[in-house]
Amino acid sequence: MKTKRSPSQLEACWKEKDLIAGAVSDAMVIIMRTNGCRWAKTGGCSMCGYRQASIQNVTEDDLNRQVDEALSKYSGEPFVKIYTSGSFLDEGEIPHATRERILGEFLDCGRILFESRPEFVTSGILSELPKNVTIALGLESSDPDVLRVSINKGFSPEDSKRAGMLIKEANLGVRTYLLLKPPFLTESAAIEDTVNSAMFADRFSDEISINPLNIQHGTYAERLWRSSDVRPPWIWSLIEVLKRLSGNVGARLMSSPSGGGSSRGAHNCGRCDLEALDAVEKFSFSQDTKDLDIKCECIDSWQTYIESEKILGTAADLDRGFDGDLALGCEKDGRIRY
Ligand code: SF4
Ligand SMILES: [Zn+2]
Repeated sequence: MKTKRSPSQLEACWKEKDLIAGAVSDAMVIIMRTNGCRWAKTGGCSMCGYRQASIQNVTEDDLNRQVDEALSKYSGEPFVKIYTSGSFLDEGEIPHATRERILGEFLDCGRILFESRPEFVTSGILSELPKNVTIALGLESSDPDVLRVSINKGFSPEDSKRAGMLIKEANLGVRTYLLLKPPFLTESAAIEDTVNSAMFADRFSDEISINPLNIQHGTYAERLWRSSDVRPPWIWSLIEVLKRLSGNVGARLMSSPSGGGSSRGAHNCGRCDLEALDAVEKFSFSQDTKDLDIKCECIDSWQTYIESEKILGTAADLDRGFDGDLALGCEKDGRIRY
């Protein structure tokens, strides 16, 4: 009898759209249950809730049964994305034989994507991977202080760059993830940080995916958010970043904000959030900045918010952390959503 979170069952599996060589294609997303990210076990990144999600003592047999389950749901989608809440290339999560099996099963699909921390990317491992592989690297920021103090990433930007260059030399794909607005960065500092980080990542990335801060349960970021010391970015900030980068990087730009439109994710006033998120999704496929041209009067609140943070010298949540006198945002009318 299987328990609710059996180690031999997938965490999740669904179908969605993504891109192969610029063309929209069907994709299958597989979330595997593994023993979890090594770094998360030592404390992990400030915004990452994967420590809560990982399971202990997942065996090779369990992993193979998860692969069987994934294959039973596979309908020949040309793009397969495999996430492990850690590093696919860490043999503590996915042993060598299981990795070989998974890559063999999906050898004929157009594109297979998985994530890895840079320390597991070696030329030896890369030489064993088929040419349809894209490796996702969680660079987050190119600023070493942001990585160390705000995120506690446990590696430097140069480590990601080394891994990215190695992957490109092996003729494999690279998707780089950036974190928009890590803890302690104001809205304007966060915009600058992500723009600079994308320029840094461009030389070794085919795609740059921008993840606005999303408050996950049981994280240090959640503790800061509960005390109003953190506000996830405005969607306007994400749009600003995409507009500034468009035409200035060779990599394809994309974003699919987790928790978008709620106070735990990137949000605007509540009235325009869905439209703004739709615009970001459309742009991610089209790369046309015209798709980002939406209107809402809360753009003025966003600009006031940015100026107020500068005057006050704080990255705390000005909507929630101060009372009446500083009614800067649009959540004062009771539309705060948790
Ligand atoms: S963000 Fe990635 S590297 Fe950091 S703790 Fe989570 S899974 Fe590990
Ligand atoms: Zn609005």
